[in-house]
Amino acid sequence: MRRVYLDHNATSPVHPAVREAMMPLLGETFGNPSSLHAFGQRARRALDLARQRVASALGAEPDEIVFTSGGTEADNLALKGACRALGPGAQLVTSAIEHQAVRSTATALAADGLPVTTCPVDARGVVDREAVLAAVTPGTLVSVMAANNDLGTLQPVAELAADVHARGGILHSDAVQAFGKVLLRVGDLGVDLLTLSAHKVGGPKGVGALYVKRGTPLAARQHGGHHERHRRAGTENLPGIVGFGVACEVAVPERLSAAAGIAARRDRLEAELLAAIPDAAVHGPPADRVPNTLCLTLGGVPGETLVMALDLAGIAVSTGSACSAGLDEPSYVLAALGVDPERLRSGLRLSLGPETTDDDAAHVLAVLPGLVSQIRQGADGLG
Ligand code: PLP
Repeated sequence: MRRVYLDHNATSPVHPAVREAMMPLLGETFGNPSSLHAFGQRARRALDLARQRVASALGAEPDEIVFTSGGTEADNLALKGACRALGPGAQLVTSAIEHQAVRSTATALAADGLPVTTCPVDARGVVDREAVLAAVTPGTLVSVMAANNDLGTLQPVAELAADVHARGGILHSDAVQAFGKVLLRVGDLGVDLLTLSAHKVGGPKGVGALYVKRGTPLAARQHGGHHERHRRAGTENLPGIVGFGVACEVAVPERLSAAAGIAARRDRLEAELLAAIPDAAVHGPPADRVPNTLCLTLGGVPGETLVMALDLAGIAVSTGSACSAGLDEPSYVLAALGVDPERLRSGLRLSLGPETTDDDAAHVLAVLPGLVSQIRQGADGLG
């Protein structure tokens, strides 16, 4: 059966150069980077090179990169570590459409007594800047994602950072879904903390990084040895980290060069699907959206039913974040946009990758409208 993968926001295929670079780390380069002998020093050099590569993909300094077990851990470290270090006056301000990794961490911090403000977004998914700024006092951590995983909406991170700093706060941005889709330079963004994950950009799963601007208050959340400059204890996942470094050096630039072509393909598919399917709506802004993401609602069609029907037809998509899949809950992201409550379970996310072809898009266009009408007829028949 022909298979089309349009779930790149969930994860992406490992880049061949990444796989090749990781293999020696599972063989002869097995040393512990903290060991003093030659085996350890060889591993240390591989770790240092990977750190340089990740830093350079962001325009950061190597000592500003803390390797973690992924985006989720980096978000946890940013929020818990910064709020702890900010001390008694700390508070957290965030948006209503953050990924679960920030959202659930904020809930956990609130349960521990930290003041947390969740700011609304507009119908495109752009955070209400006035609401954010009204809540910021000295000692506030603001956490606003660079791009939303379901909608692709880009947030005005650089503008927020300037305003937050002017009020004495600091800014974290979860950039897992923006990295490799738009150019990110920490100097231009002005962020204090920034989260990355390797597996969304052709790297392996289980590795990510937190960028920590020099001087940013951050208390470790995981204690043990002195790894990662005392910010994250534990022997480093060297194969994963090396893979992440190569993804930053090879796959991220490739993705950035492919971005305009991916956006054009996404836009064509979007227009064709809207023309072919009655009662279909696109969510997220037409501009200021990452190039690969298309979020639709299809009136009267449960998203999960459609995901399963598409899977049987060889097309892999999702209703939204893989971290929320299977929960059968209405989408909190669509709810925050003010989408009609009846449509909150009918979300469908198509996320293209650099490998997606025009033929893949044509296959989706050939299959999806027919499935939608079959499901609608089935529902009518039951009614
Ligand atoms: N943040 C965002 C915006 C994401 O999309 C994801 C993954 O879906 C994560 C964080 C979590 O990253 P990881 O899978 O590396 O834990």
